[in-house]
Amino acid sequence: MEALLKEKIRKVIREASSIAIAGHVRPDGDCVGSCLALYNYLTAAGREEDLRTVDLYLEDIPEDFRFLMGSDQILHQPKDVRYDLFIALDCGSADRLGAFLPVMRNTKSTLCIDHHVSNTHFTAVSLIDPGASSTCEILFEIMDYDRIDQKTAECLYLGIAHDTGVFKHSCTTRRTMEIAGALIEKGVPFSRIIDETFYQKTYLQNQIMGRCLLESIMVLNGKVIVSSISRKTQEFYGACPADLDGVVDQLRVTRGVEAAILIREEETQTYKVSMRSNGIVNVSRIAVYFGGGGHVQAAGCTMEGSLYDVINNLLLHIESQLKAAEQV
Ligand code: AMP
Ligand code: MN
Ligand code: MN
Repeated sequence: MEALLKEKIRKVIREASSIAIAGHVRPDGDCVGSCLALYNYLTAAGREEDLRTVDLYLEDIPEDFRFLMGSDQILHQPKDVRYDLFIALDCGSADRLGAFLPVMRNTKSTLCIDHHVSNTHFTAVSLIDPGASSTCEILFEIMDYDRIDQKTAECLYLGIAHDTGVFKHSCTTRRTMEIAGALIEKGVPFSRIIDETFYQKTYLQNQIMGRCLLESIMVLNGKVIVSSISRKTQEFYGACPADLDGVVDQLRVTRGVEAAILIREEETQTYKVSMRSNGIVNVSRIAVYFGGGGHVQAAGCTMEGSLYDVINNLLLHIESQLKAAEQV
């Protein structure tokens, strides 16, 4: 990472008299991990001399993440406060801040730390590193290692583990592993974090996963796998969006597949699309085309119309990318 920019970011954070931190809507492991890591880092015990306000804004976080320190301090409603500095973490565009966008609009200076290739540079200062596995990895590079306590390390480790699919996605680098190692040295209970927040599923989540796999279809000569879940089915299981985490990743590891799509009906004629690729297809490009964003191999967007149209439109883009790569 560019040393100058890193120093500039540290200075911006150091000199702010009050700070608001926020992440993206429907926060995932890296979002929750990075927000809580920075919050804990800036408010840790022994820093009582630091009397400035630091507030953290996030939507409701998944149950599994609530053991992380600081999660009981999260604010869900914007306060009517004009902060000195707003820090957006793991957030690729302003609209992804959801209800917390007005907090940013009302803040003097703005900073974004993120790794989405689709990041729109919506803040005055931004540190975007699409080569980083996760926002937590970038944060580690900014933080002073000696000032990272065990609780902050847990947050960073969780975020890195989640965004790398437990250190297996192509975004995992030697540096990622070195950072994870440095965090383990802080006493992070890594086996427990990985099992309990990543692999462990509730009975209901397993049932939904099974249902989505059962109803999936293979198209484009077996290069693409598609599954969808209706609102009625979600209601039947009493499932929330987070209960579908991991489903599209399981679809992706179907042998022979280049891309996987999971389509979740949000409202009538409104669908949340999650895409994963095994390398040839750039799903971020497709997601951005339809108003969303993400990474080259993991991206998402929201689409309107009939389910048939949504699938058709997505497949047209995937097919043309596969054709260009002479895969179909
Ligand atoms: P998901 O499929 O929801 O797990 O998201 C995969 C990746 O794409 C994550 O990094 C998300 O932050 C990003 N992403 C998902 N949906 C959107 C969206 N509507 N707009 C921008 N980025 C998104
Ligand atoms: Mn995220
Ligand atoms: Mn991330």
